[in-house]
Amino acid sequence: MQKGTISVQTENIFPIIKKFLYSDHEIFLRELVSNAVDATTKLQVLAQRGEVKGEIGDTHIEVILKPEEKQLIIRDRGIGMTEEEVLKYLNQIAFSSASEFLEKYKDSSIIGNFGLGFYSAFMVADQVDVVTRSWKEGAEPVKWSCDGNPEFTIEKIEKADRGTDIILHINEENKDFLEKFKIEGLLEKYCKFLPIEIRFGTKTEYFDTGEGDDKKEESREVPNIINETRPIWKKQPLDLKDEDYQAFYRQLYPMSPEPMFWIHLNIDYPFNLTGVLYFPKLGNAMEVSRNKIHLYCNQVFVTDDVRDIVPEWLLLLHGVIDSPDIPLNVSRSYLQSDGNVKKISEYITRKVADKLSELFKNDRPAFEQKWRDLGVFVKYGVVSDKKFEEKANSFTLIESLRDGFSLISEYKDKITANQTDKHGKVIVIYTNDAEGQHAQIEAAQQRGYDVVRLDTVLDNHWMQNLEYRSDLGFTFVRVDSDTTDNLVQKDENRTSVLSDKEQESVKNLFQEAAKSHTGASVQISALSPEEAPVLITRPEFMRRFKEMQALQGMGGMADFPDSFNVVVNSNNPVIVNKLVKAEGAAAGEMTEYLLSLALLQQGMLKGEALTSFVRKTLEKV
Ligand code: ADP
Repeated sequence: MQKGTISVQTENIFPIIKKFLYSDHEIFLRELVSNAVDATTKLQVLAQRGEVKGEIGDTHIEVILKPEEKQLIIRDRGIGMTEEEVLKYLNQIAFSSASEFLEKYKDSSIIGNFGLGFYSAFMVADQVDVVTRSWKEGAEPVKWSCDGNPEFTIEKIEKADRGTDIILHINEENKDFLEKFKIEGLLEKYCKFLPIEIRFGTKTEYFDTGEGDDKKEESREVPNIINETRPIWKKQPLDLKDEDYQAFYRQLYPMSPEPMFWIHLNIDYPFNLTGVLYFPKLGNAMEVSRNKIHLYCNQVFVTDDVRDIVPEWLLLLHGVIDSPDIPLNVSRSYLQSDGNVKKISEYITRKVADKLSELFKNDRPAFEQKWRDLGVFVKYGVVSDKKFEEKANSFTLIESLRDGFSLISEYKDKITANQTDKHGKVIVIYTNDAEGQHAQIEAAQQRGYDVVRLDTVLDNHWMQNLEYRSDLGFTFVRVDSDTTDNLVQKDENRTSVLSDKEQESVKNLFQEAAKSHTGASVQISALSPEEAPVLITRPEFMRRFKEMQALQGMGGMADFPDSFNVVVNSNNPVIVNKLVKAEGAAAGEMTEYLLSLALLQQGMLKGEALTSFVRKTLEKV
């Protein structure tokens, strides 16, 4: 037996390793199984090149749990190591890269934590033995052993098979790593798609034997295979059917509804990335579906927190991305400025845009049908990413209550003639509550205007975005807003059939009636006789200002009562033929009744005002 000290220049790093990323102790298993995979892949490459004599035989990896002996063993049949290699790779290279890694990152937040490698074993083990036999002919098997001090021993031993056993003597503090379900869970998490078969214990398989009356069910023990060595994202899209993609989705997210569609990512240059991203059915629910993208590095699971790698709005997608070109052992701020990471998000963005425009082109009606689930996603992309916004022009839809969906450019063409105001702005009239604003929608449509539905979480943002665009010249106006009047006045230039004096007295009547309603102001408008006698509108500017403040979490204006306009239609027959002719108390009562009706229609008649309105109405039955 030979003894040695691992490193000359570093002080004892084992205490640091043990403390390192306490919550992430579990990654040791990923590191060791990954090493076993590497060793096996290297052997396969050598064999392909004809450098290995004879058959390489079965090359699966085994994870073996021996709770009584407090051991966890990772066994591979890969290239193994000679004595010189053990000294070189484990003592010099692995040790110094682990200490360098710790030195560099011990104070920073790190994602992934790749780099600690073999020495992460000491996070959970008091002693680690490496029993290994190289593939090279005549190589003598050795056992390297280290108990968490810089001293190690190395000795010649017997080992029949080629490959390496990493034997961890799990310490008391980490004894939960001796539990079967714990290890199985970790293998499921990190190793589910590794390219070399990984076995962990056995499982019972049931099968039928015999025929007819002799038919019976029997069982046998078979290896419990953890992984799928060729996951879907590593296959060629041409070899895959829709069902394959759907099945993989179910495997990843068993509780989620079917995805709408997906994109298969596959690029070699200028970076390497594969993956499958799914578009989930989103509806209006943005939050629930975040953090569903899993990041892999050469089929090893790294994290499901890809916030710094994938732009925020793309986090709504689900699925897998796999790239060896994402630097994983660096701080977040570094990651955001990394060239590859930028290119990767640009690539994904482009792929997503291409897919959407392809779907739109190939089957527009189907695309329109999906818009309710797609819209939020597309709008999120549009408001957060200039490049995407440009591409999205060819498939971003807006929904008219009457005529269904149009592209933004189509919609502009449709309404420009009829809905341009005196300042040359194209007025887009929208509702965010088609039920609640029914009266105003009807009024607007009667005036010959189109009303669009903008009622999703992101629509306020998105409207602003469109308003900023100089090529459109859009101004958005909610259907119950006072500014729709600009259009009315410009288009119709209607005059009132009432004299100035009559108008004045109608105004006085309403002002008197409106006194009991906080925030009301009265205005007389010469609308079409078919329109309602009294309409309620809201100051657009004020409403938006308040909404913005509320969004930014500022109180301020939000506490002010909502102000609104009582617009009296001086051409409506009820006003012209009845109200103007009424006298004294009757005129006052009629005015109150008309105002109450208008407020009632808006759900604005509340409390005492509502009770007394109902009572008075009942008296007239
Ligand atoms: P990395 O894997 O990043 O190179 P590690 O610290 O995990 O760093 O391992 C250091 C080296 O030890 C590896 O590069 C490899 O040469 C060798 N090694 C580790 N595990 C095995 C194994 N199971 N079989 C053969 N060689 C191994």
